[in-house]
Amino acid sequence: TKSGRRPLVAGNWKMNGLRASIAVVEAVRNGLTPELGESTDVLICPPSTLIASCVAAAYGSPIAIGGQNLHAKPSGAFTGSISAEMLADLGASYVIVGHSERRAYHHETDDGVHAKALAARRAGLCGIICVGETKEEREEGRTLDIVRAQLAIGVPKGASARDTVIAYEPVWAIGTGLTPTPADIAEVHASLREMLGQLIGAEAQAVRILYGGSVKPSNARELMAVENVDGALVGGASLVAEDFLGIARAY
Ligand code: PGA
Repeated sequence: TKSGRRPLVAGNWKMNGLRASIAVVEAVRNGLTPELGESTDVLICPPSTLIASCVAAAYGSPIAIGGQNLHAKPSGAFTGSISAEMLADLGASYVIVGHSERRAYHHETDDGVHAKALAARRAGLCGIICVGETKEEREEGRTLDIVRAQLAIGVPKGASARDTVIAYEPVWAIGTGLTPTPADIAEVHASLREMLGQLIGAEAQAVRILYGGSVKPSNARELMAVENVDGALVGGASLVAEDFLGIARAY
């Protein structure tokens, strides 16, 4: 652990997985040694259709199950949407908020992220608030400005380590096999923690900041060793139990 922060390795299955994919949860469960389960929080965020069955498959194990998105309202005439209360009711304990794919394809704004993070807290879920710059923004030297602004607007007042995790995911690193250098990640994570300190004071030291974007078993050790990196948000590699476990072991 770094400064007492318990590492979190989170899998985001995105729009992947039919019922047969429950076997991935079972394989992760079988591969989790007691030491790993005790030292690291392990989370799987399947598509909503599989949350209930993943919760059942993970029951009694250290694996937590989470949602990938939510609607900010608790209920109402919002066809096709799912609320924080509904996720909690299924046994989810986390929810991803403001993933770059939601921002890009569903026009999610920082204000929307803020509202969703509040909704997650209202329902007792831990919100994983995602921030990250595009390739263009990095090339223009705007990375820190972008992620700090996303954080400043997205993180609700009074956020705590119990209800909030931050994930730094450079858009250009997601699904591309590209990753920033450890030095670049260290710079962003330090800046995010400093910004968090401005927003929520001393509690910022307890909030976990994950790195996400092309995390694999082969690079996990190097990425997880970076200062202020408290775990990983894993897309593609989380679909294969052995890869996901390899990343969890790397911390
Ligand atoms: P990737 O996705 O690991 O497939 O790059 C990461 C993410 O989008 O959370």
